[in-house]
Amino acid sequence: MLLTLVYRSHVSEHVQSASLAGLVTQASFKNELSGITGILLFDGTHFFQLLEGPEDAVDALYYTISQDRRHHNVVELMRDYAHSRRFGNVGMELFDLRSHHEDVVLQAVLDKGTSKYQLTYDDRALQFLCTFVQAREKENYLEILPAGTWSFLPEEQPEAEVEFIFPEMQDYSFAFQPIIDPLSREIISYEATLRGPDGGSPMGYFSKLSRMTIYEADLKSKKLAFALANQMGLNSKTLTVKLLPMTLVMVPGAVEFLIQEITANGLVPEQIVVAITENGVITREDKFNAAMKQLKASGMRLAIDDFGAGSAGLLLLTQCQPDSIMIDRNIICDVHTSGPKQAVVQAIIRFCSSLEISVIATGVEKPEEWMWLDAAGICNFQGELFTTPRVNALPLVAWPEILQEDQLLNQNF
Ligand code: C2E
Ligand code: MN
Repeated sequence: MLLTLVYRSHVSEHVQSASLAGLVTQASFKNELSGITGILLFDGTHFFQLLEGPEDAVDALYYTISQDRRHHNVVELMRDYAHSRRFGNVGMELFDLRSHHEDVVLQAVLDKGTSKYQLTYDDRALQFLCTFVQAREKENYLEILPAGTWSFLPEEQPEAEVEFIFPEMQDYSFAFQPIIDPLSREIISYEATLRGPDGGSPMGYFSKLSRMTIYEADLKSKKLAFALANQMGLNSKTLTVKLLPMTLVMVPGAVEFLIQEITANGLVPEQIVVAITENGVITREDKFNAAMKQLKASGMRLAIDDFGAGSAGLLLLTQCQPDSIMIDRNIICDVHTSGPKQAVVQAIIRFCSSLEISVIATGVEKPEEWMWLDAAGICNFQGELFTTPRVNALPLVAWPEILQEDQLLNQNF
């Protein structure tokens, strides 16, 4: 199958423009052998390349390209399948956008085209190319530093684990993981996630329950989360607890139960953020809306969890106006190398800003993901880059520290 892959990258400082033509001639010869054709544009700072060829060959070449130290911040903009090649005549041609006016370049590029239909009708790959030539997306080219620029050293003094409090609640526990603002070294909230008795995934616990008892168990478990949080000492921080949206609908008096347990455990409703997952399909919308009103009227705050992973995130957002959203970790994973993920995250940031909803990126594991998200404007993060969840205890945070030049010199990059 013919794969079309489009990427953009940032030229490294040590690369001389003059050496690029030779490099392309060399590459072109090799590419032709593996059936890859395409086009390469350079604007003095950024590369833009379109590769077309058999899927395996293009993937292998793209992997090699992304490891090449002559450029960095390599972002895959498009991966699509096509019927025929757009640029089949040349192995690979380089256009230096600085040498000609954009219209001339654009015409010259299009003249190289080999597929008359794609060049005639709207074609995404060619639209990407036009946009790059006309430099229309430059404000979205976020540059990040190499991963090794930062170190993440965990704090040293772990707080002690607290003991189980309720004898009737022996078959599960809660792990705590903070949501943080890494640069101002601030903990925004502690999130409690349900764990099995061995500290394992809550799926094992939930899978033993029937559809009806799952909601009840989901709600009742929060009593333990509040009690543990109180015993650990939250101070002025908020506590985020997860609930299936249908728990609030299916269990009569669910909000009253939460309020009662919050107060019984020495907390106040204003301190509690209820995170409902976008995945939990909402039926009985009238009842759900009534529960949302009641929840908000009590002082508790609302978050949408796993935002972007389910089927109703945008609609839910327009209906229940949360205080914050937690972007699903599958969208966050490798966001620094994925054009589609970057476009989605930037759109989320824009509409949340218009609605004064705060945005939390979850599941952050790599320094580059955090750096890109920070450059895009996100301040609040959760993930293993900073903290591993701890059962029955507040976890330690590894705050980022920028390495000094002499420390950087000792690293190989
Ligand atoms: P979730 O809402 O997406 O919760 C985050 C999960 O991702 C947690 O797993 C957490 O430990 C894990 N995690 C946090 N940071 C990272 C990271 O950097 N990388 C990776 N790969 N994972 C990370 P956990 O505790 O196993 O929870 C799994 C799911 O169980 C949760 O996913 C949530 O859907 C559900 N769940 C947990 N507690 C509750 C609860 O009290 N009520 C309900 N209804 N569902 C819950
Ligand atoms: Mn999630």
